[in-house]
Amino acid sequence: MTQPYNHIAIIGIGLIGSSLALATKRILPDTHISLYDHADDVRAEAGQLGLGTEIHDQISTAVSNAELVVLAVPVGAMAEVMAELADSLKPDTVITDTGSTKRSVIKDISPLVPDDCHFIPSHPLAGTEFSGPASGFATLFEKRYWLILPNGNEQIKIDRLAGYLGALGAMVEFMDTEYHDRVLAITSHLPHLIAYTIVGTAVDLETQLKEDVIKYSASGFRDFTRIAASDPTMWRDVFINNDEAVLEMLQRFTEDLSYLQRAIRWKEKDKLFELFTRTRDIRRSIIDMGQDS
Ligand code: NAP
Repeated sequence: MTQPYNHIAIIGIGLIGSSLALATKRILPDTHISLYDHADDVRAEAGQLGLGTEIHDQISTAVSNAELVVLAVPVGAMAEVMAELADSLKPDTVITDTGSTKRSVIKDISPLVPDDCHFIPSHPLAGTEFSGPASGFATLFEKRYWLILPNGNEQIKIDRLAGYLGALGAMVEFMDTEYHDRVLAITSHLPHLIAYTIVGTAVDLETQLKEDVIKYSASGFRDFTRIAASDPTMWRDVFINNDEAVLEMLQRFTEDLSYLQRAIRWKEKDKLFELFTRTRDIRRSIIDMGQDS
């Protein structure tokens, strides 16, 4: 397979950064992969795991020869990282990010991008509750959507990035910034907020009850604990940076919850049955689209 980029740099060697390195190494083995993370232990572990071609101690040397720079750090750290590396980029370098929120990242990064470079925001809709360099795996992006936000860039640059992500097995689609943040607020951010809340409620129960909740946890609660085990830094940043869309979806959710509360109180069986039937159809559609692992 012809490689879209000869040299890529990945900043942040956590779940997403290490998975991207492993996928690139496996599918495009001639691509030079430079890796950088600010934590010494993360860089050492990445070296032991053989994640890239080179692990750099300095962000400047990691990016200086790259044609594509991928920012795979928490969204709250994007601006700091972009500011650190901006002066070391060669002309015509494409920068993309993997951040879970887009409006905030575009606002933070855009003013720092040199005039002769190109920022094409993106977001892989793939992940797990694990973090760190050892959590990555080469097939994470296979048959998963990877959204690109064109952000006014030349089509040839966008096509090249899409070609690279597509080569890794991702299904590339294009999306507008505001729409992205609203869709993700309901499909990803609100479910995480609900999981954190339910597990937090259990944590606050009196000791005996809490122990029994853990001991007898059936699949419902267990599934929530998996989601609520997700990285605290990443998710803190997501809620702070997609506050508007999350609050809008939370408002709608609260209204729908009150409707259910009322239906239970007044024993409105038909209302409950009708809603639970509709939601079952959504589950079937997700399976039909091959988006359940
Ligand atoms: P992660 O496993 O926590 O990895 C992020 C890495 O970046 C960590 O090693 C972190 O080090 C490092 N880092 C933080 N600040 C840095 C800085 N200023 N300079 C250099 N390195 C820095 O996170 P992830 O799950 O890979 O997520 C990365 C990005 O992808 C986030 O923006 C997230 O929103 C997005 N994303 C995540 C998922 C998911 O399911 N996890 C899915 C799609 C998109 P420390 O931990 O020492 O700070």
